[in-house]
Amino acid sequence: MTVLSLFKTPKPKKSKRGALIKALDDLTSIKVRERDGYRCRRCGRVAINKNDVAHHHIFTKTRLTTRWDERNGVTLDFHCHRWAHAAGEEFRRWVLSWMSQAEYDALYIKSQMRGGFKIVDLEWLLKGMRKGFDTMTKVDRVAPEKP
Ligand SMILES: [Zn+2]
Repeated sequence: MTVLSLFKTPKPKKSKRGALIKALDDLTSIKVRERDGYRCRRCGRVAINKNDVAHHHIFTKTRLTTRWDERNGVTLDFHCHRWAHAAGEEFRRWVLSWMSQAEYDALYIKSQMRGGFKIVDLEWLLKGMRKGFDTMTKVDRVAPEKP
């Protein structure tokens, strides 16, 4: 034990931050799957049970700025979800078959931004999402190029 470790408080097993992130994940997953009618967006298979289809993140959920953005979510069944994780470039091209390049690029840029979400931010975000506010879905459009 070092002198410094005496001043550290042990982390609680279930952190408030962790619980908020889970609540946001769960809510986003429901919203994305509801939006898609619990139908796999790739093959069209409709879920018998709601959990037969998964909420897949187009840009990795390790990026918090797009983690709870419904535009970054797509509903996939088990097989297509596995495909999405392995397909790489093919997955990107599939997304671009139904999403505009401008929207894709804007989402990518948003995913690269640093969220810096503090607990209070997560609380506000969850509060807004529970009320059905469009808190995360706005992706700034790429401004049209001037002629
Ligand atoms: Zn499928």
